[in-house]
Amino acid sequence: MRLHILGSNGTYPTPGRPASGYAVQEGETVIWMDAGPGTFVALWDTFSLDTVSAVIISHEHADHCSDLLSAYHALAHGPFRRPPLTVYCPSPVADRIAGFVRAGEGHALGSVFDFRPVGGGDVVDIGNFEVRFTEMDHSVPTVGSRIQGEHRTLVYSGDTGDGGDWRGLVSEADLFLCEATYQGDPSVYEYTQHLTAAQAGRIAREQGAHRLMLTHVPAHVDAAVSVGEAETVFDRPVALAVPGTVHDL
Ligand SMILES: [Zn+2]
Repeated sequence: MRLHILGSNGTYPTPGRPASGYAVQEGETVIWMDAGPGTFVALWDTFSLDTVSAVIISHEHADHCSDLLSAYHALAHGPFRRPPLTVYCPSPVADRIAGFVRAGEGHALGSVFDFRPVGGGDVVDIGNFEVRFTEMDHSVPTVGSRIQGEHRTLVYSGDTGDGGDWRGLVSEADLFLCEATYQGDPSVYEYTQHLTAAQAGRIAREQGAHRLMLTHVPAHVDAAVSVGEAETVFDRPVALAVPGTVHDL
């Protein structure tokens, strides 16, 4: 299993650093996982839209789904000839995209994307992967993904806080790709539905994750501090999701 970091900025993109987006690959199967701003172009650096097997969108916030609109324009008007691209997502994501393009009866959106609503407990097969979804602790319906390949397991948190009942998703994962929006004392943050780096480290340790990679770190914080805080709790080296890097699990 191979993980491509397309973007990892928390909340908003900056030059050369798209917001959340990843490509997960095993053999011919390629999943585009979250489509934050900037990730469509980054995806195109390595993959053709003809060869993307499916898309997973964790939730409806623009920093995770707005580049679906770029993909829509490319697929509707570009040179690609393929069946509708399956998009697994909480149902509000499809409503957001349809609303933006004012999709009605017979609109091209229906021939470009095949939206399949998913929520906690759902399991889908995507080529060489089995993907299990869990409801996360966020302000809108949000799914975390446990992606099982032939030999390895990748878990992606999407955006989440420390509440809810989602930790089992992480159990014994080979790699836990976890959001770490905050640093330091979590009680100082008014919006509680994100994690600090130390919370990410604690959950990874408690659930027996083999490796931890932090993502969704905003550009205005020092990511080295986040990594240090997570390592203190995880008690092992912690990686940072850096756009353009590729990781074999
Ligand atoms: Zn986000």
